[in-house]
Amino acid sequence: MSKVVKLNLNKIIIAGPCAAETREQVLKSAREAKKRGVKILRASLWKPRTEPGFEGVKEAGIPWLIEVAKMGLTPGTEVLNARNAKTVLSAIAKNVENPSALIWIGARNQNHDEQVAIAKAVKKYPWARFMFKNQPWRHEKHWRGILKHVLSSKIGKDKIFLSHRGFDPGTDEPRDPKLLRNYPDYKMAMRVKTEEDVDMIIDPSHMGGTVENVIKITKEAMRHKENGISFDGFIFEIHPNPTVAWTDAKQQLTWEQFDELMEEYIKLQNKYSSKSKESGAQVSF
Ligand code: PEP
Ligand code: MN
Repeated sequence: MSKVVKLNLNKIIIAGPCAAETREQVLKSAREAKKRGVKILRASLWKPRTEPGFEGVKEAGIPWLIEVAKMGLTPGTEVLNARNAKTVLSAIAKNVENPSALIWIGARNQNHDEQVAIAKAVKKYPWARFMFKNQPWRHEKHWRGILKHVLSSKIGKDKIFLSHRGFDPGTDEPRDPKLLRNYPDYKMAMRVKTEEDVDMIIDPSHMGGTVENVIKITKEAMRHKENGISFDGFIFEIHPNPTVAWTDAKQQLTWEQFDELMEEYIKLQNKYSSKSKESGAQVSF
């Protein structure tokens, strides 16, 4: 049994289940996150799927996110459109004394009008932030284009950040499960992050597709001083009981697996920060 690892890092750490399933699952996840000092809980209310199926609890889960925010955590959810974003944000604004929220759109959701409209909705709330990902296909100009569209809303760069979730392998032929679900392009990610001057986190869960791969990618990304990769944090899928998760069951970690990774991450950060100014509290908003 590993010990619960308390986080105190100058990084964006987002953790929690792929999808919000039940009130109990969300609150259990929130308690586990809080115990560890994770500030941002992911629990998606909307889940676009390749084929019709469970597509999220949608608006029915908003009261659960309100409870999460009342616990002092930042709830994070994917939305499909600006209407969803406005509904979540106004409910949190109305019901939480010290509100905060993270809104994102999925990689496949490439309607620039909606991206801009979501940015405009988020911009209205000083305590909200907007995360968006690279599109599934490998194309740097498109990725930068999303950013340009979002910034055309005049949202501040301090209210947005990017997530690198990897690029689709471009085939649905049966593949060796050891292969990644989506491939990182670290060079491209670092170019976009540095040249556009935006924060960018990495999503090892959707790159990995399996627990083994998620752990491998996380370890690769955290040794950033050795390999020239420098992300501003991580988003992890973590489920109270991954084997029965309603979505992405194969890639969700347990909290104990998360602890082991974070223990190593903290050690590395401390090693690096003894040589530079990287330390301080974990980023929240
Ligand atoms: C997710 O966050 O659960 C997800 C499906 O991610 P993506 O949009 O990157 O595929
Ligand atoms: Mn997922």
